[in-house]
Amino acid sequence: METKKRILTGDNTTGRLHVGHYVGALENRVALQDAYDTFVILADMHAFAYPKYVGSPEIVSDSIIQVTMDNLAVGIDPKKSKIFAESTVPEIYELGMIFSMLVTHNRALRNPTIKEEIREKSLGDNYSLGFINFPILQAADILSVNADLVPVGEDQLPHIEQTNEIVRKFNQLYGEGSLKEVEGKVGRIKRLVGIDGNAKMTKSLDNAIYLSDTEQMIKDKVKKMYTDPNRLHPTDPGKVEGNPVFIYHDAFNPNKEEIEDLKQRYLLGKVGDVEVKEKLYIALNNFIAPIREKRKYYEEHLDEVVEILAEGSRAVRGEAKLTLNKVKEKMKLPNF
Ligand code: ATP
Ligand code: MG
Repeated sequence: METKKRILTGDNTTGRLHVGHYVGALENRVALQDAYDTFVILADMHAFAYPKYVGSPEIVSDSIIQVTMDNLAVGIDPKKSKIFAESTVPEIYELGMIFSMLVTHNRALRNPTIKEEIREKSLGDNYSLGFINFPILQAADILSVNADLVPVGEDQLPHIEQTNEIVRKFNQLYGEGSLKEVEGKVGRIKRLVGIDGNAKMTKSLDNAIYLSDTEQMIKDKVKKMYTDPNRLHPTDPGKVEGNPVFIYHDAFNPNKEEIEDLKQRYLLGKVGDVEVKEKLYIALNNFIAPIREKRKYYEEHLDEVVEILAEGSRAVRGEAKLTLNKVKEKMKLPNF
């Protein structure tokens, strides 16, 4: 029997998912779920790595349901993919503890995304051991189900590299071929900018358009969106490149002719921000409307959402146990 290759992918449970998640990771996740056995993780223990959420268990707990509904709404099919909460698979913690023995303290601190998050979230030196351990716990997520491919946004690539270092170290110490290296797969937009012009749309900075936003919310956010700061009047020639409004048009407006026309007129000072934004809001709303509709079904059938999570957890625990047993056996740890 031919077995399919596997995907492990997922999100922190620190709110709801936004259009940056969509172009960065969700789109690939949905497209590949036929070709791969797909595991979607709700990284709820990872959420506690952040000072902002460690004291807010109600946000993390609610987010488990919200993020599950977001995944289902964009087309993750529970018949093809398993969706599960990290905290319900204790085997992952065991693997995480074991893998932490293979990573030096210095190496853990040298992770560029960890450094960036310390800066971005102004953590100073006020972060937990769990925060530094974030990529190592992520390695445990990935390796627990024996994944081959990990669809992620660009910011996660250093964590994939860390995972592969752990694999190589483990194999070198306990036997070649014990664990398998994985590949990251970045989406069509590596890192979508925020509506405030920040380099990354992120829940933490609240600069996001969410997949669950209402039409009015999208309209209000687009109206406030950052554009070309040097352009004061609609008759001033504007900058298209790097302008968030046009980045979003390119990402979400299927009408390429309309975009080209707007760009040309913008460059010449022949169109105002109001028209560019009006067309963007319509395009974004058309993109989100069917997602919102599908999400509504699950909002009204929460029992189904919970059942999907319970089933996902059961399946993943089975897989993770196999990996953990193999790892412990290789390390000559007792099984009595
Ligand atoms: P937080 O700021 O709380 O970490 P986040 O918005 O970065 O939240 P994650 O759960 O960390 O969300 O990310 C889930 C997945 O979506 C990851 O693969 C991540 O790389 C990707 N992703 C997140 N934001 C973006 C973005 N703006 N552009 C592209 N991909 C993104
Ligand atoms: Mg993140």
